[in-house]
Amino acid sequence: MKNHSLLMIPGPVEFEPEVLAALAVPTTSHVAPDFIQIFGSALEQMRQVFQSPDGQPFILAGSGTLAMDTAAANLVEQGDKVLVINTGYFSDRFAAIASRYGGRVTQVPAPVGGRPSLDEVEAMLQQGGYQVMTVTHVDTSTGVINDVQGLAGLARRYGALCVVDGVCSVAAEELRMSEWGVDLVLTASQKAVGTPPGLALVVAGPRALEKFKGRTTPVPNYYADWANWLPVMEAYEARKTGYFGTPAVNLVVALHTSLTQILAEGMETRWQRHMAVSRACKAGIAALGLAQVPLGEEVAAHAMTAPRYPLGVNGAELVSRVASHGVVVAGGLHPAIRGDYFRIGHMGAAGIAEVLATLSAIELALGECGYPVETGKGVAAAQGAYSNY
Ligand code: PMP
Repeated sequence: MKNHSLLMIPGPVEFEPEVLAALAVPTTSHVAPDFIQIFGSALEQMRQVFQSPDGQPFILAGSGTLAMDTAAANLVEQGDKVLVINTGYFSDRFAAIASRYGGRVTQVPAPVGGRPSLDEVEAMLQQGGYQVMTVTHVDTSTGVINDVQGLAGLARRYGALCVVDGVCSVAAEELRMSEWGVDLVLTASQKAVGTPPGLALVVAGPRALEKFKGRTTPVPNYYADWANWLPVMEAYEARKTGYFGTPAVNLVVALHTSLTQILAEGMETRWQRHMAVSRACKAGIAALGLAQVPLGEEVAAHAMTAPRYPLGVNGAELVSRVASHGVVVAGGLHPAIRGDYFRIGHMGAAGIAEVLATLSAIELALGECGYPVETGKGVAAAQGAYSNY
């Protein structure tokens, strides 16, 4: 489209036209009967998308960082021991937030592009006394995916709450909150959930709510305090009026539209689709001779791909030349390798067509940057690797 570049960064992403159209409906009162119905229904849909029939959903105006802030503010009390499974930039952020609320944070590190093994995590948990463990499901700075099921099992065994940052995973990667024993999952609207930026989404499981209710000190954050929001969420779900802070009315309507689409696709199909598209993208990148940040296929996320620049290619020039061919990709983010790689988001509405267009733009741009590339090779490899899930 001449006046629209394809947005292939790891969030915000391309949004479905119906979702964008939903933003434009006339704003109603936040206590209008129609809106109460939509808000209540969106909360119920969140339980299905997060696979948490026994969880308590929260929809707040804010970004993913607010969702992280909310989780830590409500669950971490002064002096609590917090174990952070560190796979990159956003794990660092969770460590910073947890310590801001008085958590005594220990991190389990991993090399850039890797993730701590379950044995390494268990060795830390064995030291005992951890109340909370945080896991970044997909760290958007590295494209590394964690084994949430394995980690949640360990957290349970050692009595720690398992808190998952699913900002780059919810509605793209397989995630079964209740079945896997995850205690809290958070995300933001602008990635695989498929709604423009501005909503912080949290589902708290029964053990997380129990810890919150057993606090001996007030939550040291007024806006994030679940004591303020729980009655509001419960009211909307009971199709009654409630108020603490004005909800982002139009975004909630758009969220409801997107969650309806997601559930119509079905979670299993959606996860499979993301895997198929990811396989294609990664095969295309590999065929062009580009390495990737994740240290192995088994630790690579399906919501995004993080290719390294080939030797001799100027990264900034490559990203800007890809943009000149109508596709926006993102530069590096992890401080240790920021200038060495770029990031492609392929989640939500993006499918195989968008990935093929992206690979094609990358091929053109690589050639213009002086990298010898056989035009069409990446696209052909992606087509070959793609299975119609
Ligand atoms: N966690 C992860 C894994 C993310 O990718 C991001 C955003 N890229 C965040 C947290 C923070 O979200 P936001 O930018 O919406 O505050």
